[in-house]
Amino acid sequence: MRTIQIGQNELAVSNIYCVATNYVAHAVEMGAKVAESPIFFMKPTTAIVPPGQPIPLPAWSQSVHHEVEVVVAIGKDGVDVRREDALSYIAGYAIGLDMTARDIQAELKKAGRPWALAKGYRGSAVLSEFIPASLITDPADIDLSLEVNGQVRQQGNTRHLVFGIAEIIVYVSQRFGLQAGDLIYTGTPEGVGQVLHGDSVTAKLGSLITDTRQVV
Ligand code: MG
Repeated sequence: MRTIQIGQNELAVSNIYCVATNYVAHAVEMGAKVAESPIFFMKPTTAIVPPGQPIPLPAWSQSVHHEVEVVVAIGKDGVDVRREDALSYIAGYAIGLDMTARDIQAELKKAGRPWALAKGYRGSAVLSEFIPASLITDPADIDLSLEVNGQVRQQGNTRHLVFGIAEIIVYVSQRFGLQAGDLIYTGTPEGVGQVLHGDSVTAKLGSLITDTRQVV
């Protein structure tokens, strides 16, 4: 069982949902269209790389990309959640990396196959420490960024999300059902790119979280 710590509370991780192409400029760089409803894929809990651990590169991919994302932890079960109640389901926030075997994903896309391997391999769900939800006053105004070896590669703000955090929570609650311990990777801004062995990667959530890892 994988667990996360939010303040004094330990939470067992349930499902890991991820939203694809949820910033317009990233959809453009991927040659994808912005959809009318959010596109989801999932990662198994074995994909998690907890705080402090290095980011592993799988031997079977020649091009692993970083995607920095705000990650939401769900604190209670819910179905058909109302928009005005959505934010009350959030227990905490982290900054995460949706690591992606881009070459494998491209092959799978071309063949019309699911992305599970490219997006869900062991080591693909990098997670920082979580901060309690109360520390974020407005989830529609969170800065996020990613540096590789001290150079800024990605910079964004959740105000530019196509489907905002509350909207995503409502959607998941309607279609899948929310479970305490669910994590949602909310999408990456533009600037995704490859990481290599030995790189130092720093992800930031505003001034609240700074998370630095080595790529091994
Ligand atoms: Mg992503």
